[in-house]
Amino acid sequence: MNHVTSLNCKRCERAFEPGTLINLCHCGGPIEVRYDLEHLVGWRPREGRGVWRYRPVLPIDDPSEIVSLGEGGTPLESMPTLAATLGLERLWLKEEGGNPTGSFKARGMTLAVTMARKLGAKKLAVPSAGNAAGALAAYARRAGLEAHIFMPKDVPEANRLEVIATGAHVTLVDGLITDCGKMVAERKEAEGWFDVSTLKEPYRVEGKKTMGYELFEDLGGRLPDVILYPTGGGTGLIGMWKAFDEMQRMGWIGPERPRMVSVQAEGCAPIVKAFAAGADEAPYWEDAHTCAAGLRVPKAVGDFWMLEVLRASEGRAVAVSDADLVAAVLEVGCTEGFFLSPEGAACLPALRELIADGTVRSTDEVVVFNTGSGFKYLDVLAPAIEAFAERNA
Ligand SMILES: *Cc1c(COP(=O)(O)O)cnc(C)c1O
Repeated sequence: MNHVTSLNCKRCERAFEPGTLINLCHCGGPIEVRYDLEHLVGWRPREGRGVWRYRPVLPIDDPSEIVSLGEGGTPLESMPTLAATLGLERLWLKEEGGNPTGSFKARGMTLAVTMARKLGAKKLAVPSAGNAAGALAAYARRAGLEAHIFMPKDVPEANRLEVIATGAHVTLVDGLITDCGKMVAERKEAEGWFDVSTLKEPYRVEGKKTMGYELFEDLGGRLPDVILYPTGGGTGLIGMWKAFDEMQRMGWIGPERPRMVSVQAEGCAPIVKAFAAGADEAPYWEDAHTCAAGLRVPKAVGDFWMLEVLRASEGRAVAVSDADLVAAVLEVGCTEGFFLSPEGAACLPALRELIADGTVRSTDEVVVFNTGSGFKYLDVLAPAIEAFAERNA
């Protein structure tokens, strides 16, 4: 038996049956999965690797139902040269680029697709700024389900090609992820699609929360002081915070928490703006633009939830320029040898800002997330890398 007790709306608390396909609550709020953790006090993972190592705190009990491509279990690596440059004692990189389909979207999709198939869905649909498309296409194929993908026509080339290569139906849209979302919403009923958009179904967050469990195990049974997370729809930020709460209720940790830092691009920073304004929600960001495709989310279903997490953790929200985040790809490459995604690289200029203003101190243990592989952005990064090569010739 799995330990799910109920599904509840994050906004209005309304309860739903765990055994049915569900999107948003009637009130428009996202749905949260709750567990009977009192029966798991004392449990610690001892077998398996990756996302499904944490099966007792996931909604599945029969392993034969799992749709997996080998996701999670990513390395937490030290960055000693950068740490010294920044004056930090402990700086870690959670390197998510080695996941199936080259990004941490795999963690969410293994759960979403597993549950959708188990609950009877046949056709899945998603609007995506890039990597969610590749992940859905791959997991749907693995599950024997149809994938219908709507992505902006200017997504990185890798995202467009990988969905074709895994046999998905793809529509390129002259617009942003929010426009793609509208197209899915308009057609899903007539087409019989189940919508697996960020936070519009309950299980992608459950997959992403395993990053929080892994951090605890990676660090030998503690959490860091600060986590920097490149934020689009916010599933990872919300998921990790949920994991910490579950860990406390199972007796793994006390009430202490890492300070959570949301990193966004200056050209699309709705959460940063709302955080600075003390607002509970983040209005639609007009004219969103950034080369970090995963951060190009002008309006998020979970905006209020992210802001709640940032404030509860005494964290921050920081916007960085595209020039700085691209420069950081080269800086991390040339100091530590990791080839980061533009999204992950954005954490570095954000960290510099937080050190400069005293928010992060030299003794703080800091984790930055590289949410995807740099290899998915060769077309996006090529001009900056070529220019760098020329300057150094
Ligand atoms: C989707 C994505 C993000 C944003 O993740 P959320 O959890 O939706 O905030 C960051 N980086 C990359 C590489 C992504 O694909």
